[in-house]
This record gives sequence, C-alpha cells and structure tokens, in this order.
Amino acid sequence: MAKVTRDFFIGLSNNRFLNTQAKKWGFSLGADKFVAGTTVESVMKAVKQLNRQGISCTLDNLGEFVSDKTEAGQAKDKIITLLDTIHRENVDCHITVKLTQLGLDIDQDYCIGNMKAILNTAQQYGTFVNIDMEDYSHYEQTLEVLHALRDHYNNVGTVIQSYLYRAEDDLADLKDVRIRLVKGAYKESEDVAYPDKQDIDQNFLKLAKQRLLGDTFTSIGTHDHHIINELKAFVQEHHIDNDTFEFQMLYGFRNDLQHKLADEGYHFCTYIPFGDDWFGYFMRRLAERPQNINLVVKDMFYT
Ligand code: FAD
Repeated sequence: MAKVTRDFFIGLSNNRFLNTQAKKWGFSLGADKFVAGTTVESVMKAVKQLNRQGISCTLDNLGEFVSDKTEAGQAKDKIITLLDTIHRENVDCHITVKLTQLGLDIDQDYCIGNMKAILNTAQQYGTFVNIDMEDYSHYEQTLEVLHALRDHYNNVGTVIQSYLYRAEDDLADLKDVRIRLVKGAYKESEDVAYPDKQDIDQNFLKLAKQRLLGDTFTSIGTHDHHIINELKAFVQEHHIDNDTFEFQMLYGFRNDLQHKLADEGYHFCTYIPFGDDWFGYFMRRLAERPQNINLVVKDMFYT
C-alpha cells in the first residue's frame, strides 16, 4: 500500500499539466507548511528567523521541467536577483538550483550558459551554488554540466543519491567537490537503484562515513534520526572536525530536531523552497511520508 501511495504521488509530481495549473491556483493543499511563500521577501523572513537561531539556509526558487527559453531565461534572472538580495541583506545562506529549470531539456549548452551567468554573480558575492539531482533520466547530463562548470568555478557542487548503485563510484570521482548526500526522491528502475529501503539506508551510511573521513565538505541531507545518531557517534569516534560537514533538512520538517542539532553545535542548514512552482516539490514530499498527507487533510478540513 505504501508503495502504491508513493508511486501515485510521484506520478502526480511529474504531471506537467498539473504543475502548470498549480502555478495559477496559488498555494493550496497545505503546501505553505513546506514552502516559504511565493516571493523573495517572504523567504527572506524565514531565512532571517532561522539565522537568528544559528541555522544557515539554502534557497530553492522552485521550478523544473521548463521547455522554452523565455521561461528558462526568466528563471535565471530570478535566481540572479535572489543572489543580489542574499548579498544585500547579508544573510547566512547559499542557493540550490535545478538544471531542468534552467533549460537542460532544451539544450545542454544553453543550460550551461545560464549556469555560468548565475555562477559569475555568485562568485562575485562568495556564494555557493548547489545543483539538485533530479531523476535518473537527467543524471548523466547533470554530471556533465557540473564537470563543464567545475573547469571554471569552484563555488558549485551537486547531490548524490544513495539509492543509485553507482553512487559510490560517482562520489569517488567527486571527492574534491562539495556534495549533499541524500537517499533519492524519484521513482527509479531496479536496473539503476536499490528497490529496498534497508539497502538505501545502509548505502547512505556507508557513503556518508566515506565522505566524513575525506577532506571535502559534505552536507548530510536526511530527516532520519537513526542515521543522524549513528553519524554523530562516528564523528566523535573518529575525531572528525565539525567544520567539515553539516546536517541539512527540508523547511517545515522535524523543526525540533533541526534546532536541537544546531544547539548541540553542529552546522545545520535548512533547505527552503519558495515560489509559485510548488506542485512537483510538494507531491514528492507527500510521496516520501504518508503522514504529510494527514497534515494536508487536516488543513483542508479544519482551516
Ligand atoms: P526517510 O527515509 O523518509 O525516513 C526515515 C525515518 O526517519 C522514518 O522512518 C522516520 O522514523 C524518520 N522521519 C523521516 N521524516 C520524518 C518526519 N518528518 N518526522 C518524523 N520522523 C521522520 N532528493 C533528490 O533526489 N535530489 C535532491 O537534490 C534532494 N535534495 C534534498 C535536500 C535535503 C536537504 C533533504 C533533506 C532531502 C533532499 N532530497 C533530495 C530528498 C531525499 O532524497 C529523500 O527523499 C528524503 O529526504 C526522505 O528521506 P529521509 O532520509 O529524509 O528519511
């Protein structure tokens, strides 16, 4: 049953018609619990509040599946404006982008051009830019774009998903690149990804430990307290410097645990999505955790 629910919501997240329609609806279905408003002003409020509590942020100006250059160009301009605002407001945060928002499905070189424009501004401000990892059909291209950009910029990194069999090899190739490690949010074939949660979790732990023993900064992106506790013990046992890693969680999830980790002295970063293109992101969160659906239902009936 859980798998059926997951597949249903992942299917909705990929539905281009609903993604387009949802932009017109404005926030609904309780999305505001996990998305910090539609404007730069609203997200800045959330960032400042978290910064005051010792938490840094990464901002995702939501968007994906863009298929025309006008829209991709507008997304690039919005992200550059966001970088200007982060610099002007002097807040502790970096940004996260999705390559399909910036034209990867249109033309890879065009997408690289958009990324270069973003990275030029980010470099000027000393801001890091992380490239989210999307579904496996974009995986090779995302790594190709990353490598093309790394020839010119060192303020760019990406995400590795522990559900992929190839994750260990790719992490070895990217040992000098700042990486966020996650389990993986998309529905993938058993040809490329572990189907069982236990294997995905085990691989996550194995890869996180390998990274923590290396020299390059790693973001541990998970809400899983079993994994977090095991990694905290590992860090202590191996005298790993807290400055070489951070924990990351999504906005609106496990707020108590987010604050607890920051209070314990770990670097903590909250991933904050914002903008009107919220539908795909929100459906993937419902797919991951059926309890989120309860929140939505409550929201529909009791507000
Ligand atoms: P799960 O495996 O879903 O849960 C494990 C256990 O943790 C649960 O059984 C429960 O005990 C506990 N738990 C989890 N959530 C909660 C909760 N809300 N409240 C209470 N207990 C809870 N995926 C991508 O494919 N590409 C990306 O670029 C990407 N970026 C991400 C960035 C960040 C910061 C994070 C946190 C996730 C990102 N993801 C990304 C999503 C990720 O791949 C997983 O789908 C998602 O994080 C769910 O896995 P999990 O490890 O958090 O916990």
